[in-house]
Amino acid sequence: MIHTSGEARQQDRLDWSRLPVYGSGMVKAVFPGSFDPPTFGHLNIIERARTIFERVLVVVAVNRDKSYLFDADERVAFMKELVAPWPNVEVHTCDTLIVEFARQHACRVLLRGVRSVQDFSFEFELSILNKGVGPEVETFFMPTDQKYFVLRSSAIKELASFGGDVSGMVPPVVAKALDRVKQAAR
Ligand code: ADP
Repeated sequence: MIHTSGEARQQDRLDWSRLPVYGSGMVKAVFPGSFDPPTFGHLNIIERARTIFERVLVVVAVNRDKSYLFDADERVAFMKELVAPWPNVEVHTCDTLIVEFARQHACRVLLRGVRSVQDFSFEFELSILNKGVGPEVETFFMPTDQKYFVLRSSAIKELASFGGDVSGMVPPVVAKALDRVKQAAR
């Protein structure tokens, strides 16, 4: 075994020969996120991933320390409605480490969408952290479709709060909900 540093790397503790080898089309992927709210960018990643992986488990993050515009039930309801046409996509919630969730659901792939070099640098560091926790879970990066590279939930919420037109950025169900939030805040 070759070590690239004096310290044995966490993943070297794995006996790779004992892991199951899946044929193509038999791998499940976890796609975690806040989805606060879901955008066409998220849906594009899910739609592409579902043609590659046997199943895609969309995991809506529930972080008690984070404040969301839409609560977990609303985000799950959006996602369930949006992925309903795709039979191999499931929606879950998770309030533990995502690697733990992946393990519990026998998923070897953690899928992340990447919009920019900034995203990549953040996601790359996160993938190293996750690798330390669960070496058998591999992070796969999927570059955004160029149509969606500027879509960011936080920016969309801000735009919507000022009355901007977000109809090209989020599905109609989300656009309506953003509008309701804006009316309620008046
Ligand atoms: P964000 O607020 O950045 O949209 P999320 O936590 O909801 O954050 O994102 C979940 C995953 O979806 C992340 O991997 C993120 O990089 C990815 N993602 C978000 N928006 C897009 C987009 N427009 N294109 C591709 N991937 C995206």
